[in-house]
Amino acid sequence: MNILLTGGAGYIGSHTAVVLVEAAHRVVLLDNLSNSRQEVLSNLERITGENIPFVKGDVRDTTLVRQVLEQHDIHAVIHFAGLKAVGESVQAPMDYYANNVQGTISLLQAMEDCGVRRLIFSSSATVYGIPQYLPIDEAHPTHPTNPYGRNKRHIEEMLGDIAGSDRTWRIVSLRYFNPVGAHDSGLIGEMPRGIPNNLMPYIVDVATGNLSHLSVFGNDYDTIDGTGVRDYIHVMDLAEGHRSALDYLDTRAPTMSLFNLGTGNGFSVLRMVQAFEAASGKKIPYRFAPRRPGDVAACYAKADKAAIELGWKATRTLEEMCASAWNYRSPSTKTKTP
Ligand code: NAD
Ligand code: UDP
Repeated sequence: MNILLTGGAGYIGSHTAVVLVEAAHRVVLLDNLSNSRQEVLSNLERITGENIPFVKGDVRDTTLVRQVLEQHDIHAVIHFAGLKAVGESVQAPMDYYANNVQGTISLLQAMEDCGVRRLIFSSSATVYGIPQYLPIDEAHPTHPTNPYGRNKRHIEEMLGDIAGSDRTWRIVSLRYFNPVGAHDSGLIGEMPRGIPNNLMPYIVDVATGNLSHLSVFGNDYDTIDGTGVRDYIHVMDLAEGHRSALDYLDTRAPTMSLFNLGTGNGFSVLRMVQAFEAASGKKIPYRFAPRRPGDVAACYAKADKAAIELGWKATRTLEEMCASAWNYRSPSTKTKTP
């Protein structure tokens, strides 16, 4: 199939591109590079041995998206493009609505115009808000607690309305838990700009010496060791989830469906530090700090629906997540061979 990946130069999009090319799909990347780097493209070529078509542009440019859909005879779109920092979304909600919601409307208009009605949307576990029970299944109520999460939920509602209005649409919304790690080559991975907000890239920055220590936000939660628990998933497992979702779209999907992509396991912050130290041989100094506003004690997925309906399961271990994250960023251990 010919697949358009909006935001395809980003962290999850680039790993998904590798998996799809290896599965003999033809992929086209559209990205405005607002949160990614041009060098990802040459590294993708080194990994896959293919020259992947890239269009530098904004998903809000409906005319451009229409041209790309037509020129490349696109069958399905995976929509990764968007802004994703929760804290920033509280500070600048308009930017988030403009980019994430308006961007999706623009894409959907172009798709409708071109008769492309197969879509996979990058959603987030953030849509659930404060867990009412664990593990979180897809029937869990959605009460997002910040503008980023509300963007995702609004988009899912919009997608449901569109799927309801025209039975020829096939739409899958994937609610990611906490993606971490990198491709084994060490050529692509997660490289946030500035000081990372998320745990794994922060730990990696401490390991490289860019940051002095990790602040562990809260040690008095009702969890195994008092620190926050999350469902970390290897980005290559997540990428493979998209391949399964594409097969599903093409064969047996209803007009609209939702899936959690997680492992079903929760790990605490201290467990993550310990696993990373073991995988990297680096000491990660940490200090306990107050809870981060808006954080929940624990959040992890019930992953059964994706296993049953998509035939997909995460298989990689916590050790593999940490080792690959370190391989990508380590100055000395980088293999740098596809
Ligand atoms: P990322 O920032 O690495 O990738 C997003 C890409 O989209 C970037 O390359 C950016 O340049 C591009 N982009 C942003 N706005 C654009 C626009 N208007 N037009 C064209 N390109 C645009 O983020 P990621 O981690 O790869 O996330 C991909 C998707 O998954 C996002 O929608 C994000 O909200 C969602 N998600 C991510 C996580 C996570 O922890 N990484 C968790 C849940 C959901
Ligand atoms: N965390 C932390 N220090 C950091 C970043 C994160 O202790 O510098 C904790 C955070 O409180 C949460 C877990 O690590 O318990 C995962 O946080 P992240 O921001 O990566 O994911 P999210 O909270 O969005 O699921």
